[in-house]
Amino acid sequence: MIIALAAAAILAFLFYASYSIKSQVYVKALCRVKTAEKVVYLTFDDGPDAEQTPQVLDVLKRNNAKATFFCIGSRIAGNEALLKRMADEGHQIGIHSFSHANGFPLFGRGRMLADIRRCQQAIEQATGSTTTLFRPPFGVTNPTIGKAVKNLNLKTIGWTIRTYDTNGANNAKIARRISRQLRPGAIILLHDRLPQSAERLQMVIEAVKVAGYEVGRLEN
Ligand SMILES: [Zn+2]
Repeated sequence: MIIALAAAAILAFLFYASYSIKSQVYVKALCRVKTAEKVVYLTFDDGPDAEQTPQVLDVLKRNNAKATFFCIGSRIAGNEALLKRMADEGHQIGIHSFSHANGFPLFGRGRMLADIRRCQQAIEQATGSTTTLFRPPFGVTNPTIGKAVKNLNLKTIGWTIRTYDTNGANNAKIARRISRQLRPGAIILLHDRLPQSAERLQMVIEAVKVAGYEVGRLEN
């Protein structure tokens, strides 16, 4: 009985360690910027998207806000100008793997390194500069990802506030969720590939400002 309980506890821990980027077990991830100032950081995963990303960039520009875009490498071909625009307008670009494959966390060491490097190179070719910011697909971490991050000297960025914006929640609900969880240095996870991404971003920025916060720029 005790052994079964211990085994269950170990399994639960291993699950948490892999599936919560905040666990810090395998990868040391920045999940909140240490500051007492009322500033938050916007991050977007899974772009670039030829339709949605330009609208998201327009909203950011209108609000004079900066963000970090964790791009999927395989989506960059044909969208190089969008990456160039992100960089030119003062946003950060990070690596979100080349394939974003469901099986990414299970890749062997060589394959994983190659996948991450390929994304890093695609960003480099599009923008002319190298990024070391990295967000693992699905926020999953494990020993292989940990080794790859060390090997490539990447800075892993997690999040403080997950908006679950891909799960079909409405914009007002997401803005409320963010308002409740706001705190100095919070990193907010959003996506720039959804039809409602731009409109939602506007609501998020307004909610952040109403609470007296500013939008900051993550440093490399
Ligand atoms: Zn993703």
